[in-house]
Amino acid sequence: MSVTYSNGVDALNNVSLKINDGEFAFIVGPSGAGKSTLIKLILKEVDVTSGEVIVNGFNLHKIKRGKVPKLRRTIGVVFQDFRLIPTMTVYENVAFVLRVIDAPKKYIRSRVPYVISLVGLKDKVKCYPSELSGGEQQRVALARALVNDPALIIADEPTGNIDPELSYQIVQLLKDINNCGTTVLMVTHAQELVEHFGGRTIVLNNGSIVFDKVLGGINED
Ligand code: ADP
Repeated sequence: MSVTYSNGVDALNNVSLKINDGEFAFIVGPSGAGKSTLIKLILKEVDVTSGEVIVNGFNLHKIKRGKVPKLRRTIGVVFQDFRLIPTMTVYENVAFVLRVIDAPKKYIRSRVPYVISLVGLKDKVKCYPSELSGGEQQRVALARALVNDPALIIADEPTGNIDPELSYQIVQLLKDINNCGTTVLMVTHAQELVEHFGGRTIVLNNGSIVFDKVLGGINED
């Protein structure tokens, strides 16, 4: 597929890419390479100029506007800047996702503590984001992305705002989540993380895929 913005910039140029169910892939590349555009395509925030995108069984070219929320519910997104709601506790930040889709209260009461303990924050459920470290806030964001049991997690520079040593924990958590069957796409600038963990590494440059291989990591899990 290709994406040309209205100002004439070719953000993606004849890109052909298949991410299989259950895969973990790093997406790397310099600023302006097209990484955000690729993510926005998957979330249907941007449309292709030519070609086709199929995400979790939805053909994004044909999908009706009313079905877009349904598509997005199959995807959990984690951002560099966490995007937690400051006035809500850890529990409320995570529960909120299920409340807006009218999930049954009983399900919320069992699911939310479960995902919070998965990310290792059982002791922090009542804390507010300002009372947490960057790494902890990102784990809340991960719990929030996970709570609706998405088929795909997109992590957009998830370690960009946290200490390097804690970055490894975040990627390890994403790897653990992936080992339970969730597909994970992680955009990163952190070469050391890619080298450490290894796995499928897709390099974008100037709107094209210039490298797409499975690399061996230092710490293979
Ligand atoms: P990356 O995330 O790798 O930094 P982007 O996908 O944001 O790359 O950008 C790819 C190219 O598209 C860049 O040249 C950028 O300037 C351009 N671009 C991104 N968003 C827009 C937009 N909304 N309108 C016009 N050009 C854009």
